[in-house]
Amino acid sequence: MIRLTTENTQKAVAKCKQLKPKVQFIKDRYFAIYSANNSNVYYVNFDVKDGQKFGKCECKASEKGLVCYHIVAGATANIYRQSLKRTA
Ligand SMILES: [Zn+2]
Repeated sequence: MIRLTTENTQKAVAKCKQLKPKVQFIKDRYFAIYSANNSNVYYVNFDVKDGQKFGKCECKASEKGLVCYHIVAGATANIYRQSLKRTA
């Protein structure tokens, strides 16, 4: 899994805002991201250890240890879900 920091997610956040990929909730901390460029679907999952966020995606960028926009898209949806839980 890749540790997510403000620094290493910056580029992916910008790309995610530009592409606005479709995110589907699968289960807790597990999402399907529909590629904005083609018909591919990437599954991303998240973990939190010692207050640090980790993410993993199936795409080639993620395999190389890079934070892709799929992870950012999923993370954004994950944070949104968490905030809903808190107010519920
Ligand atoms: Zn990816």
